[in-house]
Amino acid sequence: MVELVVENLEKRFGNFTAVTDVDIHVDDGEFIFLLGPSGCGKTTTLRMISGLEMPSGGRVFIGGRDVTYMRARYRSVGMVFQDYGLYRHMTVHNNIAYPLKVRRMQRREIAEKVGRVAETLQITDVLSRKPDSLSAGQLQRVAIARMLVREADVFLMDEPMSHLDAQLRGQMRAELRHLQKSIGTTTIFVTHDQLEAMTMADRIIVMRAGRIQQYATPLEVFENPANEFVATFVGEPQMNVFDVTLRADQGGVVAEADGFVVPLNAAWAEANGLHRRVGEIVRLGIRPEHISLARQGDEGHGINAELYSFEPTGAENLYVLRVGGTELTTRNSTNDTRHLGKVEGTMLGMHFDPDWIYLFDPGDGRTIA
Ligand code: ATP
Repeated sequence: MVELVVENLEKRFGNFTAVTDVDIHVDDGEFIFLLGPSGCGKTTTLRMISGLEMPSGGRVFIGGRDVTYMRARYRSVGMVFQDYGLYRHMTVHNNIAYPLKVRRMQRREIAEKVGRVAETLQITDVLSRKPDSLSAGQLQRVAIARMLVREADVFLMDEPMSHLDAQLRGQMRAELRHLQKSIGTTTIFVTHDQLEAMTMADRIIVMRAGRIQQYATPLEVFENPANEFVATFVGEPQMNVFDVTLRADQGGVVAEADGFVVPLNAAWAEANGLHRRVGEIVRLGIRPEHISLARQGDEGHGINAELYSFEPTGAENLYVLRVGGTELTTRNSTNDTRHLGKVEGTMLGMHFDPDWIYLFDPGDGRTIA
């Protein structure tokens, strides 16, 4: 059983705090993603777990052992970096074998292990070649093979797919997820690509400015974001968020935006105490797929908006609409909206699905309902 525990981890570079208050508990065999924008502290966190960077505060435990100040090579950790870190003068075979040679493993055993991982990653035919002659996808497989061959307690991967084209990334997502589950080694994967995290992770750690924003399953992060940052970082196209004033209306509460009013579910408003916030300005969030469109005047689609731009993607249509000072993106199935046309300037009716409306605190961004 290899649990990975990080307590109160902190890293300062001079006066700058790159990582702070980071607590992570990874169960044995879990596939965890560190997700966040560039510069939020993902790589620094990973380097402290690997031993390549010493923390300014906090602790790291691997399999119950305190490894906080232990050098990288004494930790049982396998890594893949963004630039792969392969030796150009060595063949693929020797690159993969290198960590085993350092451990003075018998030649026969090395050949056997390299052969096995090469087969798993389908790179047997390039074992005698040098890295310079390989494609991006092959290089990535070699780097992963070199990590796997060590049979470490924990695997750490830093943006290993960033050099692959979109098609190969899609294919590798499924393959890597399958591989991680079949090997069962506790793994942390760093990415700024929310799709990668959403499709592969058991749980996602969303980071911003050195701090953890949320640590939960992909579905939980998507459906119950902890704050406006998480809500808008996860999901494509991103969630629409705009200012509204909460108003009392016929015993219930509505959200008044610039030029339109959004009805709120009465039971939900009651359960979240929104009547106590009447008069307050809050941020209202709704994902593009939770706004349905109809012809202007159609029943149940009482919010009128002007079509500003139209982007067909095949199965779906993206519409950008303007109402008052607010611009909203909607995402609808082509079948449902075929009759609406795509002429910019057309007036359309919108319906906000009341089950998927979020409200955020305008100050700290935390989800209030
Ligand atoms: P990216 O996705 O761009 O790699 P990241 O989330 O991995 O970003 P880090 O590389 O961990 O971010 O960097 C976090 C912050 O710490 C950044 O502002 C970076 O400039 C800073 N930083 C990282 N390493 C050092 C260093 N050795 N000295 C000073 N500042 C550093």
